[in-house]
Amino acid sequence: MPATRSLTELLEQGRVDAPAISAPDRSDLTYGDLQKLARNTVTRLNELGIGRQDRVAIVLPNGPEMASAFITIACGATTAPLNPDYKADEFEFYLKDLSAKALVVLDGSDSAAVAVAKKIGVSILELHVPEGAAAGEFELKGSTRGSTRNPGTAEPEDIALILHTSGTTSRPKIVPLSHINVCASARNIAESLDLGAADKCLNVMPLFHIHGLIAAVLSSLHAGASVNCTPGFNALKFFAHMDEAAPSWYTAVPTMHQAILARGPRNADSIKNAHLRFTRSSSASLPPQVMKSLEEMWGCPVVEAYGMTEAAHQMAANPLPPAKRVPGSVGIASGPEVGIMSEDGTLLNAGETGEIVIRGDNVTNGYENNPSANAEAYTNGWFRTGDQGIVTEEGYISITGRLKEIINRGGEKISPREVDEILMNHPAVEQVVTFAIPHDKLGEDVGAAVVLRDGQGSTEAELRDFAAKSLAAFKVPRKIKLLDEIPKGATGKLQRIGMAEKLGMI
Ligand code: ATP
Ligand code: MG
Repeated sequence: MPATRSLTELLEQGRVDAPAISAPDRSDLTYGDLQKLARNTVTRLNELGIGRQDRVAIVLPNGPEMASAFITIACGATTAPLNPDYKADEFEFYLKDLSAKALVVLDGSDSAAVAVAKKIGVSILELHVPEGAAAGEFELKGSTRGSTRNPGTAEPEDIALILHTSGTTSRPKIVPLSHINVCASARNIAESLDLGAADKCLNVMPLFHIHGLIAAVLSSLHAGASVNCTPGFNALKFFAHMDEAAPSWYTAVPTMHQAILARGPRNADSIKNAHLRFTRSSSASLPPQVMKSLEEMWGCPVVEAYGMTEAAHQMAANPLPPAKRVPGSVGIASGPEVGIMSEDGTLLNAGETGEIVIRGDNVTNGYENNPSANAEAYTNGWFRTGDQGIVTEEGYISITGRLKEIINRGGEKISPREVDEILMNHPAVEQVVTFAIPHDKLGEDVGAAVVLRDGQGSTEAELRDFAAKSLAAFKVPRKIKLLDEIPKGATGKLQRIGMAEKLGMI
């Protein structure tokens, strides 16, 4: 697959009459349509006084227009998709922090973002979907503020996308990604999944985060394939979308896969979907039991991949069969170089545990307005991921934990992931998250929250006894809370940091 260096070039990878974007109950948008939409959008932005490197915040519901607005606006300006569920204060923080020049919303939108934009002087561009429009087709309405000094199509080094990290371990950090970064990542993913023009992705991921934007949308377009954009993940509607779109793959976070599995038996007719070539999981670790059940349910392999915002998503992935997949590993480097580094910045050998570091065209040049985070993040040209891991001689990477989430029990370091994995082996356990709980003398101790399978019973004492059979006593959770649901962040991730407070376990 040829490399591309800008989104304008990326959109030329498909046949002009081939479908690029589709959506439930809509006609397809072809590559030719999408290229035309991109040209028109750049011209329109320029007319509205917006040019290269100007920041355009996008607050749209998930769906085909969110995908097409992101791609086409990025061809002429810098996009900053924001979570539509934010409240006014959050919108105000992000719009100011990003120095947004314009905000894109659906016409007639009553989003809190509109009132905030008016208050702080950010111009509003209304996205209008004409009657009977193909999936993703739109017109931009707004009032002209004079022509821009920087008209035209974005260059490879321009920032295409600004996103914030998920905020799993700290306040979200702002990550600028250039056209080169996002195109390199899209191509890496398309190659690792062997995507071709005949593939169709079902997108259920939110399009204000890196996973959906790059793994579902841009990797498909880089391969000349198509992406079906649903309104987002909904366990009740998922199987209907599968039946209607007949995709060859979908990508999701593990908590979504678990929700799909929980509903699988009630949707037996659509299981063993003949169109599926594989499914993909990323953004958090996929418990091996979940992987096995998914493969049994769909009758096709699950590809687990390792990604992060700063890498424009993917840095490693398990190869598709017949190549070797290693259970418990996130696979091999998929484009960027991946190494393991000690705290003092020395690169370590295969089999040694340390911090996972990366470098490559897909990796950001640095956080915005965050010199202290940048000083910590880069060592000798390598970007430090904050993840702890180990690489085998053959290059298979395993994540052993997040450095910031390691539980420090009076100096004894405990990986919460290890405890999760043991408790997941209990037949009544559906989901578990292990985290630090405060302790007077030790500083931190081990706590866990568990969701039991429908119709199964267990108790805190029994679960602790079960864990004690496989774990040294100091790693056995001192407290286990049984819940109906574990609270998650906006990307569906379990946030270990702050969980004890959230669950009142302090
Ligand atoms: P913040 O950086 O704000 O704390 P975050 O790291 O969760 O939030 P993202 O960029 O969305 O923000 O997530 C990247 C992280 O997700 C990785 O650094 C890694 O810890 C985790 N991750 C991604 N894929 C996997 C995977 N397959 N297995 C385990 N962990 C994964
Ligand atoms: Mg992170």
